[in-house]
Amino acid sequence: MKFTNHNKIIILGSGPAGYTAAIYAARANLNPILITGINKGGQLINTNEIENWPGDFDKITGINFMDRMHKHAVKFKAKIISDTIISVDFHKKPFFLLSENNQYTSDSVIIATGANPRYLGLKSEDEFKGRGVSTCAVCDGFFYKNKEVAVVGGGNTAIEETLYLSNFVKKVYLIHRREIFKAEKILIDRLLKALKTKKIILYLNCTIKKILGNQTGVTHLIIQKKDIQEKIKISLSGLFVAIGHTPNTDIFIKQLEMQDGYIKIQRAMHGNYTQTSIPGIFAAGDVTDHVYRQAITSSASGCMAALDSERYLSNLS
Ligand code: FAD
Ligand code: NAP
Repeated sequence: MKFTNHNKIIILGSGPAGYTAAIYAARANLNPILITGINKGGQLINTNEIENWPGDFDKITGINFMDRMHKHAVKFKAKIISDTIISVDFHKKPFFLLSENNQYTSDSVIIATGANPRYLGLKSEDEFKGRGVSTCAVCDGFFYKNKEVAVVGGGNTAIEETLYLSNFVKKVYLIHRREIFKAEKILIDRLLKALKTKKIILYLNCTIKKILGNQTGVTHLIIQKKDIQEKIKISLSGLFVAIGHTPNTDIFIKQLEMQDGYIKIQRAMHGNYTQTSIPGIFAAGDVTDHVYRQAITSSASGCMAALDSERYLSNLS
């Protein structure tokens, strides 16, 4: 077991929130270290096309995009460590973090461990991830202009994504495993109103059995209605899986206040927006956010967390 030097600031996560926090903290001479986690580059590594990062109007791959963020952080001398934290003790000072082979201490910590979209768990889903199977309509919907797509899920996200997609795709099939939606009434009302356009087709009490496709991507879905043996084949180009996200917060249970598994931050009006229930521990990005979940919102909160942390550290000295 190695013991690294004591740090002023440790950032957990190498997604947009983590790298942005590292760039800001490094430029403030705080000598941050950033621990990447297993998924170096975060969720965006899984996408081939990012089109909504302002200023980058030519298509850019997720790998390239995150590599640029990495280089930007390194340029300002942030230390990047390939490691994964398995437990923390935020009740003692300095804060203590443990990985399989190392232990770290720090005066402040920025948690940017993100969230993972849930998938259906079908073998065929794995095959077409990024080639017709997406978990983000705002990110990828545009690529399906005038095409037919499906959304699976029955919560707020599924309904919002269905309504959003129906603005520019040819048809959206909304597939939900129950009769009743979990989404809020206002969204269900909007959905029912939108059904009149005949652009949205509901398949209730249905589950997806298989995703079919070829080299170009997804071509069909096989679905099955509850209590009926016969299967239905739908021809389409894309499937949006909207069945929720799981925030990466297991190691913070009993350490920090959380809500529905997400880390609670102050969201205060006068700064210190990203502080968690423990002063000195800040959180940014998807690990705090089940609503917006975008690269730019994650980066923005990573910046806020670095500024909040800088202020916290200057009050310590
Ligand atoms: P993440 O990107 O989730 O990164 C979390 C990081 O934390 C990872 O590096 C992981 O290794 C690390 N980590 C986790 N646990 C630990 C631990 N215990 N110790 C150390 N590190 C840890 N958004 C857009 O704006 N535009 C798009 O085009 C777009 N496309 C998308 C396509 C796909 C397929 C997906 C899944 C998402 C897409 N998004 C897009 C959403 C965007 O990727 C996320 O909103 C964003 O990545 C969140 O950034 P983050 O830094 O909060 O967390
Ligand atoms: P969610 O509320 O957890 O809903 C997930 C949906 O997916 C449920 O309908 C669930 O079915 C279904 N599902 C789960 N696993 C499935 C599986 N394996 N196969 C098929 N269907 C499956 O997730 P969400 O819609 O992403 O919302 C997450 C949180 O964000 C919620 O708190 C929501 O209110 C919030 N949110 C808010 C807004 C807004 O305020 N505008 C927008 C988006 C999200 P069951 O119904 O059978 O459980």
